[in-house]
Amino acid sequence: MNGIFNHIKVIREQIENSARAVGRDPSEVELVAVSKTYPAELIREALDVGQVIFGESRAQELLTKVPLLPASVRWHFIGHLQRNKIRKVLPYADLIHSIDSVGLAEDIDRIGAELGIFPRVLLEVNLSGEATKFGFDAETIRREAKHLLSLPRLQLEGFMTMAPVAKDPENARPIFSRLRKFRDEIAAEHDTNLPVLSMGMSDDFRIAIEEGATLVRIGTAIFGPRPNA
Ligand SMILES: *Cc1c(COP(=O)(O)O)cnc(C)c1O
Repeated sequence: MNGIFNHIKVIREQIENSARAVGRDPSEVELVAVSKTYPAELIREALDVGQVIFGESRAQELLTKVPLLPASVRWHFIGHLQRNKIRKVLPYADLIHSIDSVGLAEDIDRIGAELGIFPRVLLEVNLSGEATKFGFDAETIRREAKHLLSLPRLQLEGFMTMAPVAKDPENARPIFSRLRKFRDEIAAEHDTNLPVLSMGMSDDFRIAIEEGATLVRIGTAIFGPRPNA
């Protein structure tokens, strides 16, 4: 099947065009193929055409897929992580996008020390104020940033956000630009580098790239409609 190949090819071209359109180097933007709900065969197809990073949002699903696929896959965890799943997920997660509480960050730091690793993480920020979404509100991050940056094992690399579902993807632009400005402020205030901005999905990734995304998370535009979403 060359559907996945074609989808990835088109998306890579769109990533490149969107980056160039705003004077960015396209190599600053990495594609996370969101493989949640899709079977291992489809992940293998994408892997065979050069896609390396895959995003999963449920711990059990990730743990089921890991042994079915080559060790060259780089798994990103993008969903709400329950604290009792940290120990199982950490050894496989190249990056966790979705730290949504101080307690979760502290547990990951502690378990990282026990496992002898330095977990790479992003803080999920809820900038739209939607009550149904996970994620920190911006004020909590301002208050806790110093503490979170001081955790010895946790490698805090940036932020993730999800824009509300909307008919017009332009509606997401203010959310994305707000996340970039928020990142700039926090980084400056703490004299640190927070280079990663995970934002943009199938419908709005071009706008996210124009606003500074370094990771775009794309599922349906690669793999097609979800089997059991
Ligand atoms: C499912 C999911 C995506 C991908 O959404 P698509 O619309 O299929 O591209 C991106 N980010 C997160 C956090 C998700 O859960």
